[in-house]
Amino acid sequence: MQAAPAADKFKPYIRQTIAQSRQWDSIPPELQEAVQVVSHVLPFRTNAYVMDQLIDWGRVPDDPIFRLTFPHRDMLPAHEYAQLRELVLGPGPADQARLQQLVRQIRLRMNPHPAGQMSHNVPRVNDAPLRGLQHKYKETVLFFPSAGQTCHAYCTFCFRWPQFVGMDDMKFDAKESHELAAYLRGKPDVTDVLLTGGDPLIMNTRQLAAYIEPLLAPELGHIQNIRIGTKSVAYWPQRFVSDRDADDLLRLFEKVVAAGKNMAIMGHYNHAVELRGALAQQAVKRIVATGATLRMQGPLIRHINEDPASWAELWRTGVRLGAIPYYMFVERDTGPREYFGLPLARAHEIFQAAYQMVSGLARTVRGPSMSAFPGKVVIDGIATVGGEKVFALQFLQARNADWVRKPFYAKFDPLATWMDELRPAFGKDKFFFESEAGWHDELAGQAPPRKVIPLTPALQAHGEAAAGPGPGHSNAA
Ligand code: SF4
Repeated sequence: MQAAPAADKFKPYIRQTIAQSRQWDSIPPELQEAVQVVSHVLPFRTNAYVMDQLIDWGRVPDDPIFRLTFPHRDMLPAHEYAQLRELVLGPGPADQARLQQLVRQIRLRMNPHPAGQMSHNVPRVNDAPLRGLQHKYKETVLFFPSAGQTCHAYCTFCFRWPQFVGMDDMKFDAKESHELAAYLRGKPDVTDVLLTGGDPLIMNTRQLAAYIEPLLAPELGHIQNIRIGTKSVAYWPQRFVSDRDADDLLRLFEKVVAAGKNMAIMGHYNHAVELRGALAQQAVKRIVATGATLRMQGPLIRHINEDPASWAELWRTGVRLGAIPYYMFVERDTGPREYFGLPLARAHEIFQAAYQMVSGLARTVRGPSMSAFPGKVVIDGIATVGGEKVFALQFLQARNADWVRKPFYAKFDPLATWMDELRPAFGKDKFFFESEAGWHDELAGQAPPRKVIPLTPALQAHGEAAAGPGPGHSNAA
């Protein structure tokens, strides 16, 4: 293992402190205003590493990492931006009550908990929900440690954004790991535990060990894979290299491996630039040197990573360093979706182009995949079958394991951006899974969760223009 270099100090910036950064004055006033206004609705946090190493300030506002981390005016419809601006920057004293009311109203419009997460995936013991746990697929439990519900920087598209803005009624967290261990003792079918957030690696190693070490107990022998979903590989690679307890973290990974389990780091990358720097590359090498595995995943996002060449470079670099390309996700149906979303047809085209640029070793990657209510649905292709143009789809993961890898077909729709906009092909009125166990059983008496963001004329225009091709770490759920 390479020696750790001298430590960088983690320096976050939020709305109230961003003006202290040395780059702030170089940002045009209209962009500064948008950051100040929109960040009242969408969480904003970046850090000095992202600002100094990842953003190309000569390309602002089109630089992909600038768009990834700074809120923009177009993330809100013009009338909402104007209302918000008036309250935030208007001449009179800000009416805090009206401001809070408007902010909440806009957030609720943004489908803050997609894919039925709050209502359909939370396990119950003695009829009480276990907060902080989510059990959507038979073999995998998601755990949201309470100390890991923030990140080194925030992504403006993030579907976990309600956790960062204090929408408490929509927040997952768990105070202790003992509930997790107790739940798992009674679930011999569960092989995988995914610690997610926020970012669990925001925790120091001692805190993290308190969650992970109980999973190594002999009575939890059925837990084979301990996964951590993290963006720190891109936003703060110092976590594995030069943080005060970076070496302790690597020792923890080695301990999991020595216990006969797979320590799986699910690294969230959005753009090739995140893996160009020496520090980010050293982080990958140090992770894999412990015997842990590092998989690369991230969503496809308009304005940020529409270039297939960026994906290909990212996967190639990752493979060279020992990481495994894993998922390209479709941007989820939440938050400023009109700004970031792309039609599914475009998403498929970008994935295919990037896939064709890399060698077989990088073709472990799968996508574009939607983490939708019934499961992870991948778009395998666009084809014409019996004279009808269709999307060829399959489940990579599903609420009902019998659905996995069963091909199914949806009518081709050049504007569709998410699963619930697709309709069955060949004159059928339902997809096969809509009449099977795992669908109706779960939903007895309830309508399936639907996204609430309407397609705006702007997105439709974009979709038409892009009818050929379309678009978190934690899209893993
Ligand atoms: S995508 Fe991951 S790193 Fe980005 S804000 Fe969301 S939870 Fe944090």
